[in-house]
Amino acid sequence: MKQIETKSMVLLHHHLKALRLPTMGSQCEPVAARAAADNVDHLAYLLQLSELELLERERKAAERRLKAAKFPVIKTLDTFDFTARPSVNKVLISQLARCEFIDRRENILFVGNPGTGKSHLAIALAAAACSKGYRVRFSRVTELVTQLIEVRDEHALLAFKARLAKLDLLVLDEFGYVPASKLGAELLFDVISSAYERTSLILTTNLPFESWTEVLGSERLTGATLDRLTHRCQIIETKGESYRLRDAKARITKPKNSGSQETEDPALEGGTRTD
Ligand code: ADP
Ligand code: MG
Repeated sequence: MKQIETKSMVLLHHHLKALRLPTMGSQCEPVAARAAADNVDHLAYLLQLSELELLERERKAAERRLKAAKFPVIKTLDTFDFTARPSVNKVLISQLARCEFIDRRENILFVGNPGTGKSHLAIALAAAACSKGYRVRFSRVTELVTQLIEVRDEHALLAFKARLAKLDLLVLDEFGYVPASKLGAELLFDVISSAYERTSLILTTNLPFESWTEVLGSERLTGATLDRLTHRCQIIETKGESYRLRDAKARITKPKNSGSQETEDPALEGGTRTD
């Protein structure tokens, strides 16, 4: 009897492996033991097991999408302090995190000074899209332009663009830090223009629109780029002081012996200590 059981278990594991159901393979015995103890019938057992397989598949797929997106760091909306950035509407951002803008092929532009949370918000929204099953790619504009020039030189531009076309959302971070060459600007325009009404874009920039010509070189290209980007687009301004700077200032002004009576003296505000 024991031998038959062992034989059928080996076969079962083999079949589940051949069917590519690894979680069912690893979980069939512990779930069966629980089902027996709880008096669960066969169909409910099968349901529990198939649910585990499905959950694990979804988890792995989300993990793969996150990896493929190539985020430099992971940021979430939970860790974004909206009170520190009143120009950013929390309700609007939470609504955007539902990702309906991707279904509508709309774009988001984050415009504001360095350190005001543009990349944080862009990554948080894009990571939310990953977990909802969208194919996402994060790229700094200068890196993307370099890559475009490289693949063009290698006659692989079409294949590269075909990969971009498969995305649901492309994040173009830090537009405007470095002026693009004429070729770079044209290739970037081509990416933006190909994405128009097909792939959503999230673009972050420290440059007001009137200065975009400094990056793209020509007025004609800037006009055409802005025309495509801003048609059906949310423009979110991250106004105010740099969060990094604020953080640094807070660290400097923080009393060294916080908690001691001496440092609670309001006269020490501003970080000027006399000791
Ligand atoms: P930007 O892209 O506008 O230059 P970042 O998004 O890179 O700025 O923000 C700089 C740093 O400050 C990051 O570590 C980011 O997580 C943090 N940060 C910025 N704004 C906020 C905020 N409102 N709440 C929490 N962290 C923030
Ligand atoms: Mg940034």
